Amino acid sequence: MKILLASSEVHPFSKTGGLADMVGALAKALAASGHDVHLVSPLYRGIVSKFPTISSANWEFNLPMADRWVQAGLRSLDLSHGLKAFFVDCPSFYDRAGIYHEHNVSYPDNASRYIFFSKCVVHLSRYMDWRPDVVHVHDWQTGLVPMLNLQQRYEGWSNPPPTCFTIHNLAYQGLFHGSLFNQLNASREFFMPDGAEFHGFLNCLKAGIAFADAITTVSPRYAREICTEEFGCGLDGVLRRRRERLFGILNGVDYQDWTTQKNPLLPHGYSVNRMAGKAANKLELQKKMGLKIDPGIPLFGTISRLAEQKGVDIQLGALSEMLSARMQFVLLGSGSPDYEKGYLDLARRFPGQMAVYIGYSEPLAHLIEAGCDFYLMPSQFEPCGLNQMYSLRYGTIPVVRATGGLDDSVVDFQQDPKSADGIKFHEYSAQALAKAIRKALALYENPTLFKRFRRSAMRADFSWDKTLEQYLRVYEIAMSAHF
Ligand code: ADP
Repeated sequence: MKILLASSEVHPFSKTGGLADMVGALAKALAASGHDVHLVSPLYRGIVSKFPTISSANWEFNLPMADRWVQAGLRSLDLSHGLKAFFVDCPSFYDRAGIYHEHNVSYPDNASRYIFFSKCVVHLSRYMDWRPDVVHVHDWQTGLVPMLNLQQRYEGWSNPPPTCFTIHNLAYQGLFHGSLFNQLNASREFFMPDGAEFHGFLNCLKAGIAFADAITTVSPRYAREICTEEFGCGLDGVLRRRRERLFGILNGVDYQDWTTQKNPLLPHGYSVNRMAGKAANKLELQKKMGLKIDPGIPLFGTISRLAEQKGVDIQLGALSEMLSARMQFVLLGSGSPDYEKGYLDLARRFPGQMAVYIGYSEPLAHLIEAGCDFYLMPSQFEPCGLNQMYSLRYGTIPVVRATGGLDDSVVDFQQDPKSADGIKFHEYSAQALAKAIRKALALYENPTLFKRFRRSAMRADFSWDKTLEQYLRVYEIAMSAHF
């Protein structure tokens, strides 16, 4: 199948979260299984210096944005298995210090930046000499592609390709002033309550839900949750209307990147039958983060965007109670300044026992996954979540709130004592999380059971081949039931 994947971020070129990991891994897996895959994303600052073999694709184009024209060029890079990555080079939009924001303030022209990117995706699929069978777009930044595709029918293109739209997080909708719809140069009939309009605003995510031939989200449970008022973020109605085209597919893990063996980002390798390296990584982590070096103390970790969704408030509450017990905690993350301060203040109260690194670091993320005994993920809601799956592979027992993809990927003792690999709690409260941490401490005190949990965790398999089959089925549905 010829598949065009378009996303505002793709690992290893650009990344702010799980979206980049998922699109990068999906592209690799599709190409490795013999499909003909092209990727397209914006050319952000720093990409060319990291990948100097990116070359010009000798293609310049101008696209209208309301009554002005914006110019861009195309660059490309050949990857393994015939996978081709394209980059939209438009310095005025993408050559900036951040991807979506700087100093926690979103760029004021984000609507224009991603309307333009969406137009580029449609332009490429129409004019490349390679015609995709399906165009797969992701999140609000490319949510307008399915609609712009249909608009092409008014512009003389009788058979634009079918589209698949994946929602990675319903809470980020790309909601902008209604007047910005003009920049799409599209028929007003699309700006209706059953289309891109949302209470007078332009809603890019809603447009994707309304006009894509197939819609997916990143876990089966989240697919059910978002059709309810509680999790629907105002879009449950439109999602219910399109329910027969909505599919929940759990993300896979790129086990080439997330491996405990021969991983250049880990000081010590290990595997399910040779766990000494994990213990050595724990000491490295304690040393690096200024924690008291003690192989026998249970060490908990979290790597996260510090946003309300991630359960920061209940985590701070639970930790301030639980750190009086014999345990350590390490955090890697960045986000809301209030939350950053919350963790830093708490770390000052518990020196040697809690450590915080505010910032972004892939090597430290791997070391935390490898060095910790438990991984805390108390999200309010979680479309899929990747870190709990990375933790499982690294033998680090996840302690998660039973929501979305966390519920789908972790097995609790109550569910199945034989294959249990994590600890779940249900109520969204600091008390419930503290209780789950106490369960973890009790598990740590029972070496036989702890070892069993670890073995089950490391054997859990979220590799892409299973996930891939499900996407291919959805692509077929999109192709057979094209708008
Ligand atoms: P989300 O996409 O909602 O942020 P996910 O769990 O799906 O959450 O994916 C987060 C991804 O981003 C993981 O690969 C995680 O390791 C990574 N990540 C998040 N914050 C940081 C950080 N501060 N440093 C390094 N990696 C991070």
